[in-house]
Amino acid sequence: MTTELPYKPYDMIMCCLDPVHTGKGGVETGYIDSEILREPGTNLPKISGKAIKGMCRTNAAQVYQVRTNSALLCAGKDNHCGECPVCQTFGTPKQGKETMGTFRFNDAHISLFPVYSYTHGPLWVTTLDRFEMLAGPDFEYSDFLTDTVYALFETHDKISVGKRLFFDVKPATEMISPKLTESFGSCSQINKILKNKKIVVVPGSVFSKIVNENLEIRTSVSIDPLTGTAQDSGLYTYEALPMGTVLISGQAGYLMDTDLKKTFQAFESGWQTPAQVVNQGLALCAVTGLGGMKTPGFGRMNMMLKEIQ
Ligand SMILES: [Zn+2]
Repeated sequence: MTTELPYKPYDMIMCCLDPVHTGKGGVETGYIDSEILREPGTNLPKISGKAIKGMCRTNAAQVYQVRTNSALLCAGKDNHCGECPVCQTFGTPKQGKETMGTFRFNDAHISLFPVYSYTHGPLWVTTLDRFEMLAGPDFEYSDFLTDTVYALFETHDKISVGKRLFFDVKPATEMISPKLTESFGSCSQINKILKNKKIVVVPGSVFSKIVNENLEIRTSVSIDPLTGTAQDSGLYTYEALPMGTVLISGQAGYLMDTDLKKTFQAFESGWQTPAQVVNQGLALCAVTGLGGMKTPGFGRMNMMLKEIQ
C-alpha cells in the first residue's frame, strides 16, 4: 500500500513564445534603459516567483469569476472574498481571513537558451546542472566533465555559439532519451527542442557570457502626438529573454490537508486542488502574457506544472 504524501512538489516549466521582459524596477542610465531582472550571484536573467504568482492569480481569478458569475474578482491587493479556491491557493489579506496561500512559487531560471550559430543554425545552450534539472533525477551525468563542451547531436566540427565563440565539441547524443522528449505535455515546444537535439552543453563559466551577449535588445522611439514624428531624446532600449528560452522553477508545490480538501469541495469551481488552480492560471499565460510591454508583442509563455516523482 502506498501512502500519499501531503506535500505535492512540482517543477514549473515554461517556454517563451514571444520575447519576455520582466524588469528589475526603475530605469537605468547606462547602455540599456530598461534591464531585466538578474540573479546577483551569476548575473543571469531570471523571472521572479512573485511575477509568476501575480500573473497566475489574475488569470485564475478571472476564470473563477466567470465560472461562478461572481461580482467579486479575487485578484489585486485587496477586495478578496477570502474563502474561495483562488484565495486559498494564492493567499489574502482580508481581515479575519488572512492567509499566506497554500501554493509555493519560486524564481524561474534558464534551462535552455536559444542562440544563432554561424556553423549550425539555431541552437539551444545549457550547462550540465541546468540540463539535469530539466531532465529530472532519472538521468545521471556523473561521467561528463564540467569543463568540456558537448553537442547533443552528431558532429565533429567546431561549433560557433552566439556572436563569436567557437568551441571544440564532443558529441553526446545519448543524453536525451525518447522518454524525455515526450514528457513536457502542454509545452510542446520543449518536446520539439529535445527531439531535434540541437543543444550544446557548455561549462558554467561561459554560460552567463553567452546568455548576456545574446539577449534580445529592442530599441523604440516615442512619437510626438502633434507631429507624428519621433520626439527629441525619445529613443529608449530594453532587453528581453528571446523567444524559445526555456526556464524552470524547481520545487513549487503545496501542502494538502483535510481542511483544504473540504474548502475546495465546498466551492463549485471545477478545481479540486491548488495545483489545478495554478495550472489554469499558467495555461492562460499563452494568451495573456507575463511581464512588461505585452501590447507591443511581448510576454506570451507556454507554462505547465510537472509533478516530481
Ligand atoms: Zn476569493
